[in-house]
Amino acid sequence: MYIKKVIIEGFKSYREEITTEPFSPKVNVVVGANGSGKSNFFHAIRFVLSDMFQNLRSEDRGALLHEGAGHSVVSAFVEIVFDNTDNRIPVDKEEVRLRRTVASKKDEYYLDGKHVSKTEVMNLLESAGFSRSNPYYVVQQGKIASLTLMKDSERLDLLKEIGGTRVYEDRRRESLKI
Ligand code: ATP
Ligand code: MG
Repeated sequence: MYIKKVIIEGFKSYREEITTEPFSPKVNVVVGANGSGKSNFFHAIRFVLSDMFQNLRSEDRGALLHEGAGHSVVSAFVEIVFDNTDNRIPVDKEEVRLRRTVASKKDEYYLDGKHVSKTEVMNLLESAGFSRSNPYYVVQQGKIASLTLMKDSERLDLLKEIGGTRVYEDRRRESLKI
């Protein structure tokens, strides 16, 4: 499974609908001048895939909508098109489209054009092997520096989370309490 295409409209600095494709299943590099929207692009991807931007307040949603002199938008969307030929997303389709829309009052998810709940999306992503709370597939600016400066114990904690073993430690601790 890999991202084939990203479509953005009205999100932060992206006013007009823009499609970014094709992506390589291996490594992709995003380059551009300062302020050209690189960070906003990754924000858009995390907006769809991570659970960091849940329970948004009205102001938070407003900040995601494109605002420009005389041409502000009232709604936006980000759609990620996955190549699912390996069926890692447990849906019997070779291509899966996941879209999240945002307007001042609400934000919603669509799977292949069908309205779905946030819980359905999060469960689906989890079964596909995404870490929701710690999306290691997007390494944010400054993260590498902070990784090198971390204490060994903190780095170990992060590795446990990425490897997916921390959840077992938590459960073990819980079961020993009883
Ligand atoms: P750098 O190389 O400095 O990290 P960048 O390519 O990552 O730059 P971004 O941070 O993605 O750039 O884009 C910043 C631009 O996005 C700024 O010009 C900012 O004004 C604009 N921007 C952010 N939110 C909105 C919004 N809601 N509406 C319109 N423009 C926005
Ligand atoms: Mg940036």
